[in-house]
Amino acid sequence: MSVEPPPASLRLRIDHAALAHNWQSLDRLSGAARTGAAVKADCYGLGVDECLPTLRDAGPSSFFVAHWSEVEAVARYVPAGDIAVLHGPMTAQDVAYAKAIGAVPVINSIQQARRWTEARGGRCHLMVDTGINRLGISPTQISDDAIKALDIDVLMSHLACADEDSQRNARQLATFREVIGQIECKSLSLANSAGIALGENYAFELTRPGLSLYGGIARSELKDVIRQVAYPEAAIIQTRDIKADDKVGYNGEFTAYADMRVGVVSLGYADGFLRSWGNVDGRSGSHLLHDDRHLTLLGKVSMDMMVVDLTNAPEVREGDWLSVPYSLPDAAQQSALSQYELLTVLGQRLR
Ligand SMILES: *Cc1c(COP(=O)(O)O)cnc(C)c1O
Repeated sequence: MSVEPPPASLRLRIDHAALAHNWQSLDRLSGAARTGAAVKADCYGLGVDECLPTLRDAGPSSFFVAHWSEVEAVARYVPAGDIAVLHGPMTAQDVAYAKAIGAVPVINSIQQARRWTEARGGRCHLMVDTGINRLGISPTQISDDAIKALDIDVLMSHLACADEDSQRNARQLATFREVIGQIECKSLSLANSAGIALGENYAFELTRPGLSLYGGIARSELKDVIRQVAYPEAAIIQTRDIKADDKVGYNGEFTAYADMRVGVVSLGYADGFLRSWGNVDGRSGSHLLHDDRHLTLLGKVSMDMMVVDLTNAPEVREGDWLSVPYSLPDAAQQSALSQYELLTVLGQRLR
């Protein structure tokens, strides 16, 4: 007999209105270009089933995944023909799958182009590498017969440094411009989230935001435009009354200044709440929220627990939920992790 495990004492709340708002904001910033959505890595960790219905209703024209194995989950919500697979057809099996399910490959090399054409694959996208040196044909290969034989819908390239003020952005743009005159295609695409913030020169006819859909601030220009989407929440699993001079947590880092009520929260560094956000060395500032009241973190963050001061919320009981303020840019700065890593790790742990 199999028994359903009880619900976890931590969870991730998705603000669907914010997700839709972020797509609409990026769509507005994309000007006349259509706006797609990168939904790879299970919607950056937040969950295809959770995010796709909201995104679909907002209205992207194309959805981007990395792997063929990601297509099926996304195709439950949108037509397979609107799904582009960034890694392209690497094997005959990939080609057969693409044709059977109807998702569109992004062709990244001469070999992939041949593989696709020989199988009479039909419509595809083409990635040209303009300087990131990741996937894509090189600009000099654009006139290769294998490329000319393709039925190209979107001709795309990908920016390496769009989140910085780098001259390489303009250089990649110029290289892309040189390439696009040399091949037939239906539309052009260059910008990811950060690229959209670089302005309309970068938007072409289709943009491909990912990170900023889910609340990441890819560039400072997006700070007031993009809203937080992922809200970690954790339950109080015990409350305790402690006496003045009692110490809390590993190494007794916090000493009670008076008799006080504290709550043990089911959230720790194993869940992506980094130890460095605790009150290490007496540096305070981290807090959780109950309604809008700040509950200060006391002592060190443990693997699966942390302790908060309940002075501001005396009525809070075991089983009550607290929300975790989680600014991706601040967290990235404090942890030396990227917003991409924080989002994907956080989502996987908490869901
Ligand atoms: C991941 C990815 C995107 C989305 O990038 P963000 O920086 O998350 O907006 C767009 N295009 C390609 C080719 C990608 O791999």
